[in-house]
Amino acid sequence: MKKKNGFRTPFHALQVASWVIMIFHALIGILCISFLLSTYELVIFLIIYYTSFIIVIAQGIFLTKSDPSINIPFQNVDKSPTAVNFMCTICKCYVTETSKHCGSCDRCVDNFDHHCKWLNNCIGKSNYKQFIRLILLLEANLVILLIFEILIIDKWKNKGLDIDEDIENADIFFIILDIILNSIFLLLVGYLIIFHIFLKFKKLTTYDWIRQRKKAKKNAKKKAIQPQIIFYEEEENGTCNKNSTFKNPQNTHDELIPMMNSSDTKNSTPKNLQISQSLHKSAPTIDSDIIMTDRT
Ligand SMILES: [Zn+2]
Ligand SMILES: [Zn+2]
Repeated sequence: MKKKNGFRTPFHALQVASWVIMIFHALIGILCISFLLSTYELVIFLIIYYTSFIIVIAQGIFLTKSDPSINIPFQNVDKSPTAVNFMCTICKCYVTETSKHCGSCDRCVDNFDHHCKWLNNCIGKSNYKQFIRLILLLEANLVILLIFEILIIDKWKNKGLDIDEDIENADIFFIILDIILNSIFLLLVGYLIIFHIFLKFKKLTTYDWIRQRKKAKKNAKKKAIQPQIIFYEEEENGTCNKNSTFKNPQNTHDELIPMMNSSDTKNSTPKNLQISQSLHKSAPTIDSDIIMTDRT
C-alpha cells in the first residue's frame, strides 16, 4: 500500500527507537541534569538545550510528514517528437530519469537518495536539504547535551564525591549511561554528516553510491571466479622459471566490461521500443522497472 509519509503504519523499529531516545533525552534534562546545576547554569541549559531540542523535534516531524513522491501528470509530460519520458511500471505514472520506486513506501521518489528507517520516510529531491539540516541540528543538540553532562560529572568530582560510591544515585547513573549512549550517537551522526559531505563532492546520491559499491563487488567477484590461466614465460634457455611473470589473457576483456555496462541505453535503443532501464534493475532493493517511453 502506498505510504504518503513516515507517520503511516507500519512503523519501523528504528523509528520507534528514535522516539524513545528523544523522550529519554527530554526527561534526562528535566529529571537529572536540571537538579545538579546552579541557577545560572540551569537557565543557560534550559534555554540552549531545550531550544535546540524543540527545533530538532520540529524538523524531525516536518521531515517525517514530508512527501517526496513524484507523479508527473500526463498533461505535463514532454510530448515533443524527440522527447524521452520515463514511466514506473508499478506506479503506472510518469517519473524522472533519477526516480526510484521505494519498496518500503510503494511510491516513486524523484532523485531518490535513500529510505530513512529512523524517519520511516524516503529522502529525495524535495526533502534532502531538510534531512541534512536535521542531522546537523541533531549533532549540535547532542553536543550541547554532552557538554552539560560532562560538566555535571566534573562538578561531582570537584566536590570530592566519589562517583563510584554514588553510582547508585539514579541521576548520576543515568547521566553516565547517557554520556556513553550520546557519544555513540554523536559518532554515528558525525559519520553520516561526513558521508553526505563526501557524496556532495562526488556528486552522488546514497543510492548511487550503494549501486556503485555493489557493482564493484560484483565485478571483483566475477574476476575472482574467472579461471586464472598462468603462462610461465620461458627463459631464453628454454626452462620455466618459477619466479617468472605471468599473464592472464582474461584481463584484456575486463576493460571491456565497464565500457559495455556504461553504454547509454537511451542512444542505442530504437525510439519506438519500450525498454526496462538497466540502471533501476540493478538496484539494491529491486522494486520496479522504469520503462522509457517515446512519445512519437
Ligand atoms: Zn513507482
Ligand atoms: Zn521509502
